[in-house]
Amino acid sequence: MLLIPCPLCGLREESEFTYGGPRRDLPALAGQADAAVWSKALHMGHNPRGALRELWYHGSGCEAWIEVTRDTVSHEFHPGGAE
Ligand SMILES: [Zn+2]
Repeated sequence: MLLIPCPLCGLREESEFTYGGPRRDLPALAGQADAAVWSKALHMGHNPRGALRELWYHGSGCEAWIEVTRDTVSHEFHPGGAE
């Protein structure tokens, strides 16, 4: 069982959360990026070995979206988005 560090609730079991995917830095809105840039940003995800910033929804707890860093090899979680 994985334990995820919610900044509002403390360490909680993974089953209380819904995975929101990796955090993405999307291109600017309103004509500042063309379709190819958007397509790459949305569909060509980064799949690193090691630290990955992710979003999780704590639906069975505080109902907040949180950002954590998970090591994709060991599955260790670290609070916040810092790598
Ligand atoms: Zn929480």
